[in-house]
Amino acid sequence: MKAAPFLYQRPVDMNAALALMAEAKGATKLLAGGQSLGPMLNLRLVQPDLIIDISGLAELKQVKRSGGELVIGACITHGDIEDGRIPDVTRGAMQRVAGAIAYRAVRNRGTIGGSLSHADPAADWVSALPALGARIRLRSLAGMRELAIEDFVTGALESVLHPAEIVEAICVPVMRPSARWGYVKACRKPGEFAHAIAAVLVDPEAATARVAIGAIEAAPVVLRDAASLFGGRINGDFKRQFDARVADALLTKAGITNAADRHIHVAVLRRAIDEAAA
Ligand SMILES: Cc1cc2nc3c(=O)[nH]c(=O)nc-3n(C[C@H](O)[C@H](O)[C@H](O)COP(=O)(O)OP(=O)(O)OC[C@H]3O[C@@H](n4cnc5c(N)ncnc54)[C@H](O)[C@@H]3O)c2cc1C
Repeated sequence: MKAAPFLYQRPVDMNAALALMAEAKGATKLLAGGQSLGPMLNLRLVQPDLIIDISGLAELKQVKRSGGELVIGACITHGDIEDGRIPDVTRGAMQRVAGAIAYRAVRNRGTIGGSLSHADPAADWVSALPALGARIRLRSLAGMRELAIEDFVTGALESVLHPAEIVEAICVPVMRPSARWGYVKACRKPGEFAHAIAAVLVDPEAATARVAIGAIEAAPVVLRDAASLFGGRINGDFKRQFDARVADALLTKAGITNAADRHIHVAVLRRAIDEAAA
């Protein structure tokens, strides 16, 4: 099948893109890497009247260090991150996540902003970035707003993005030297979407832990303070302190009624914690 007819615009800068979106009458879609939108157009799952191609916008390809964080433009590709073409403030964590997304051809075009906007629950950045404590920056003609990634993705293919807004950038905090990272993605073969994802950032020195449990057919379960998973406090013994029953109860509360599914998610979480402790 081929895409239904649509109008195509390729604005020269961010202001022109925002103006086009504000003026658009019918259904409008932004095109970044096209790795999710392309198949959806061809299957006619979406039939926009207008496509605005933002893949050439220089503003969305900028990366800069600002205070304690790295601000990554929305059109930075998974391949840019995997290859180290942008600075790394996560001690290799983002590079490893990027390198396990799909296949090289997809990573060459697929963007970090497109992945978050699409909000597929099985997508890697949707789970990895909340665990890293990242924030998302949204821009419209009315101005800019910034929110935690876990407040941005609200469900399967659902986010709080307004129709006239563009994801401008993702702000990733510099990882402390004492922080420990674990990321495990379970899938049948490399390059596939995950059946279970666990992302863990534990800092025994600061006694903090952030955890995201993803690929659960809804927004990931994100614990900004995950002490309850480790007996109430975080210390260097966090691997031994991990309480699988608490994780299981959280997943039940999140609506996962099948015990075997919960078991897989808890096993993947345990592996991510083991990785962080190693
Ligand atoms: C075969 C295959 C395997 C894949 N496997 C994985 C995987 O294992 N893990 C994984 O995480 N992903 C996977 N993906 C998805 C891939 O990572 C895509 O890059 C990603 O889902 C979408 O990014 P994009 O830049 O291509 O966005 P597009 O396809 O261009 O757009 C996706 C959606 O986001 C909107 N959008 C794009 N950019 C913005 C923006 N800046 N602001 C607002 N809205 C925007 C578009 O309008 C559209 O609705 C796979 C894709 C394919 C084709």
